[in-house]
Amino acid sequence: MTAWKREGRTGRSGESSMEKSMEIVVDRGRCTGIGICESVDPDRFEVGADGSLVVLDPMVTEGDLALAEEAIRSCPAAALKLHRIEEAA
Ligand code: SF4
Repeated sequence: MTAWKREGRTGRSGESSMEKSMEIVVDRGRCTGIGICESVDPDRFEVGADGSLVVLDPMVTEGDLALAEEAIRSCPAAALKLHRIEEAA
């Protein structure tokens, strides 16, 4: 397991023996750099001066899932997806 998967904002955690992680995935072919996702969740998304999107924190916890889903829904290019990962704790 890589260390970066453990980073991210603190949220509620389950008591299950399986740790459920979620990760934001960007379709770079679709992203146009409009930046609506950044306006919804500026702690997670940042559009650089060159128009390229930087995902500052790709890992999503249960505690910030609602905001991440709102950012995903707000993208007019449908360039964002939530990838669910299940791994043994
Ligand atoms: S809202 Fe969508 S198209 Fe715009 S920067 Fe974010 S991911 Fe890219």
